[in-house]
Amino acid sequence: KEFSEISLKDIDQLASSSFPLCMRHLFDKLRENHHLKHGGRMQLGLFLKAVGLKLEDALAFWKSEFSQKVGAERFDKEYSYSIRHNYGKEGKRTDYTPYACHKIISSTPSVGDHHGCPYRHFRLVDLFNQKSDVLYFLVFIYYNSAMHTIHCESIRAAQKSIVHMLQIFCFSIIVVCNCHSLFNSEENLRAALGKMGVGGRSLDDILDKVRSRHYQVACTLTFEAVHAASCDSGINHPNQYFEASQKTLQT
Ligand code: SF4
Repeated sequence: KEFSEISLKDIDQLASSSFPLCMRHLFDKLRENHHLKHGGRMQLGLFLKAVGLKLEDALAFWKSEFSQKVGAERFDKEYSYSIRHNYGKEGKRTDYTPYACHKIISSTPSVGDHHGCPYRHFRLVDLFNQKSDVLYFLVFIYYNSAMHTIHCESIRAAQKSIVHMLQIFCFSIIVVCNCHSLFNSEENLRAALGKMGVGGRSLDDILDKVRSRHYQVACTLTFEAVHAASCDSGINHPNQYFEASQKTLQT
C-alpha cells in the first residue's frame, strides 16, 4: 500500500491535511506527550511506513519525541528495535503491513491508550458501555452490602459491613469522577472534528452515523466534508484515506 516517499520536514503539514482522524489523534498525542504505548506505536508506525516514511526518518521522528520523555539512551535501548522490526530489519524480518479499518475498529484500547478508531472508541467507556451500566453496577454493590449489614449476627460484623459500605461509597465517587470525561466522549469527538474544520450539518450527519455504529461511513463523510469532494468507494483503510486525500489535494 506504499504511496510515495514523504519527507520528515513535511510530516506536520501532511498530518493536518491528509491523515484520517485515528492517525491525527495518535500524531497529536505523540507530539503532546512525547510518548505512545505499544498499540499506538504499532498503529501509527505502520501507517507512516506505508505512506512512505523511510526507516532512517522514522527512527529520527520517534527519537525526537521519545527522547524528550525517556532520554535518547533509553530510546536507543528499548524502542528503536521495534521500529526497525516493523520495517522488517529485525527478528523474522517480516515486512509488516499497516492496519486496515476493521482491525483498528475492533481493537480494544484501555485507559491511557490512544490507538483505535476515534469514531468508535471516543464514545466508549473502557469498562462500561453506558452510564446506566455503571449505575446498575453501583446499585448492585450497595444492595448486596446493605443485605449483608441487615443479616449480620453481631454488632461487630455490622460495624465492619458499614465500614465496607463507606469504602464502596468512596470508590464510587472515584469511578464517577474518572468516568466523567469518558461519558462526555461525544464532546471529544465533536472537538476533534471541529479541529479538522468539520461543523454544521456535516458534523450532525457524521455523529448520526457514529450513533448508529457506522464508523467507516462516518469517516467517509468526514473525508468528504474536509476535502469538499466525494469518496464513492468509502473509507476502509487509513492509508487509502491518505492516498485519496493527496490525490484530491493535488488535482
Ligand atoms: Fe481510521 Fe478507519 Fe476509523 Fe477512519 S474509519 S478513523 S481511517 S480506523
